Amino acid sequence: MAAPDISRRNFLTGRARTAPPPLRPPWTREETITSACTGCGACIDACPEAILSPDSRGRPVISFADRECTFCRACAQACPEPVFLDASERAFAHVAAIEESCFAKTGVHCQSCGDACPEAAIRFRPRIGGAPLPEIEAAQCTGCGACAAICPANAVSMRAAESNP
Ligand code: SF4
Ligand code: SF4
Ligand code: SF4
Repeated sequence: MAAPDISRRNFLTGRARTAPPPLRPPWTREETITSACTGCGACIDACPEAILSPDSRGRPVISFADRECTFCRACAQACPEPVFLDASERAFAHVAAIEESCFAKTGVHCQSCGDACPEAAIRFRPRIGGAPLPEIEAAQCTGCGACAAICPANAVSMRAAESNP
């Protein structure tokens, strides 16, 4: 089955077109949130980037509207419950994807996401007669959200990482 897309607009605003799964903090999975999170808010208060907020049940969701996750693990360290995985696990169950609203796809030169990516996971494919197109190498993407935070076209979404358990 194809991996579900989670549009940037949806996860920034909390609105869902087709009830996509919420984006959760690093080193958590929907299963660990469901089974162990009490909604205490400790992780939300601990995040120095202020990118965590409560859902309707007080459980944390993450937004890359303004900033990326730095993988500092302050959220994990603050949590009193067995919600967060060990640091050796992959942090996020998602990777970034470029949507059609990308400026480069409409002919406008833009490489902001590539400049912001700390993993050099975004390459730009030259095109004759058009702006170079961004392509994300999923194997290199950590899902940090730096590209989403900086994109002037709100064109970066997150999709499930296929290799993620
Ligand atoms: S790892 Fe750090 S920056 Fe990322 S969500 Fe947790 S507290 Fe915030
Ligand atoms: S920053 Fe946004 S608009 Fe610019 S190339 Fe990247 S995805 Fe496209
Ligand atoms: S989510 Fe982070 S690692 Fe992945 S492409 Fe965007 S900036 Fe690079």
